[in-house]
Amino acid sequence: RELPGDPRSDTIPREVLHACYSKVSPSAQVDNPKLVVWSDSVADLLDLDHKDSGTIYAMSVSTSSRFERPDFPQFFSGATPLVGSLPYAQCYGGHQFGVWAGQLGDGRAITLGEVVNSRGERWELQLKGSGKTPYSRFADGLAVLRSSIREFICSEAMHGLGIPTTRALCLVETGKSVIRDMFYDGNAKEEPGAIVCRIAPSFLRFGSYQIHAVRGKEDLEIVRHLADYTIRHHYPHLENMKKSEVEVAERTAYLIARWQGVGFTHGVLNTDNMSVLGLTIDYGPFGFLDAFDPSFTPNTTDLPGKRYCFANQPDVGLWNIAQFTGPLSSAQLINQDEANYVMERYGTKFMDEYQSIMTRKLGLTKYNKQLISKLLNNLAVDKVDYTNFFRLLSNVKADRDIPENELLVPLKAALLDIGKERKEAWISWLVETGVPDEERKAAMNLVNPKYIPRNYLCQSAIDAADQGDYEEVRRLLKVMQHPYDEQPGMEKYARLPPAWAYRPGVCMLSCSS
Ligand code: AMP
Ligand code: MG
Ligand code: MG
Repeated sequence: RELPGDPRSDTIPREVLHACYSKVSPSAQVDNPKLVVWSDSVADLLDLDHKDSGTIYAMSVSTSSRFERPDFPQFFSGATPLVGSLPYAQCYGGHQFGVWAGQLGDGRAITLGEVVNSRGERWELQLKGSGKTPYSRFADGLAVLRSSIREFICSEAMHGLGIPTTRALCLVETGKSVIRDMFYDGNAKEEPGAIVCRIAPSFLRFGSYQIHAVRGKEDLEIVRHLADYTIRHHYPHLENMKKSEVEVAERTAYLIARWQGVGFTHGVLNTDNMSVLGLTIDYGPFGFLDAFDPSFTPNTTDLPGKRYCFANQPDVGLWNIAQFTGPLSSAQLINQDEANYVMERYGTKFMDEYQSIMTRKLGLTKYNKQLISKLLNNLAVDKVDYTNFFRLLSNVKADRDIPENELLVPLKAALLDIGKERKEAWISWLVETGVPDEERKAAMNLVNPKYIPRNYLCQSAIDAADQGDYEEVRRLLKVMQHPYDEQPGMEKYARLPPAWAYRPGVCMLSCSS
C-alpha cells in the first residue's frame, strides 16, 4: 500500500495533515555550481561506475541517468532533475529539548528517489539545502558551506569509525550566497550556499510516527501503515511487529554506546533527529571530545541546561525511545508491558555494548567497573584528550622491570602539565590496569582511533574552502576514511586543538545553519 501523500505540491509553509510526505522539487538557485568533494566509496554503493578516464559515472533512478562527474554539480544541486525521480519532502514532528514541537518535517531536505544497487540494496538519495518545502516554516530551506562541510566530513568519518550513520555522496557549492544571522554578534552575513547529497536506506525518524499519533484517532491508521511499511522495507527479517520496536531500541542503544566510545556528542538529540534504523543522523552542532569533559556540549543553544551533553546521551536515548513507543501504543501496535520491555532492552543493550567497548579500549578481556570509573575520573581531573589517551595507552610496555615513574613516558603527550600528585594517581591506575603486550596493542588500535574530525580540523578545511581551495576538505576526508591506521605523514591531523580554536566565536555552533 502506498503511504498517504499531500495532494498539494507547493512550498507554502503549512500544516500538512493526514500525509507522510509532500511532492516538491529542489528550488535552490545555483550559479556555476562547483563540486567541493565527493566520496568514492558512496559512489560505489550507488554503482556510479568509475570508468577508465576517472570521470564517467552512470546510475539509475527508475530509468537510467548517465552522466559524468563534472555533471555532479548540476544533478546534485537539483538544477538538473534526475531522470525518473519523484522528489518529495517528509512530514515529521518531534520533541525538541524535551518539549513537543508539533510538525517539523524536511524543511530543507528533499529526497530525489531511491536507487537499488546491483547487490539489491536500496538507497534513498536526499539533497540537504536544496530550497523550501511546506515544512520550512519561517526559514529559507538552504544550507551554508561551513555546515555542509561539517556534515559531509563527519558522516564519512563516522562510517570510517565503523559507527552506523547516514552517508554523504557529494557536496556542491551553489555559487549563490545565503544570509545568516551570526548568533554570536547578532549581525546578518552573506555566506556561500551549499548542498550535500546524503544517502541512507531510510531517513525515517521517531518523529515520523509521533506526528500522526498526536493528530487524532483517524491518523492512528497512518501510524499503523507507516510501521507496517518500515517493517516490510527495513526489518523484513522480523516476521512480526512485536520484535521490530525492540530492535529499534537495541540499535539505538548500540549506536549511543559507540558514540560514547569515541567521544562523539551529537548536540541535538531531539526525537526528529533519531533514526528508526539506529543511524547517526543530522550533523548540526556535533563535536568530538578533545579534553575529557562529561558535561561537554557542542551546541551553544544548549549551554544553560546541557540536556544533550556527552554524559547525558545514554539517558536521552532512553527518553527518546520512550517517546517512540508512545505512537505505537496509541495505535495499539504494542501494549504497556511491551513498551516497558522495549525500554528495558534499551538499558540492557546499552550497558552490554558500553562495557564491551570500554573493556576493549583498555585492551582488557574482562569488564572492570572500578578501573573504568577511576580512569574517567582521572581523565576529567587532568582534562586529558579522550582520543589520544587511549591511542597512546597501547604503547605502555609490559616489561615488569620498567621503573614505575617511567610507565608514564608513552603517555607524555596526553598527560600534559600534571603535578607530582597526579602522576602518582596515574601510575597507580596503570599498575592496577596491567599493561598491554604487543597483541593487545594491535587489538586496542582497532578500537581506539588515531584520527577523529575534531572541530578545529573541520574549521581549517572550512576556512580554506571559503577561499575557494577545496584541497583541505578532500585531504581531511581521506584521513578520516581510515581513522584506525597510523597514516605516516598525516600525524598533524591527530594533534590537539591549537590555541586559536579556543578563541570566542571561532568554533561556536548552533542548530540550523
Ligand atoms: P534540526 O534542529 O537541524 O534538526 O532542525 C529542526 C527543523 O528545522 C527541521 O524540521 C529542519 O528541517 C528545519 N530547518 C533547519 N534549518 C532549516 C532551514 N535553513 N530552512 C528550513 N528549515 C530548516
Ligand atoms: Mg533535524
Ligand atoms: Mg539539522
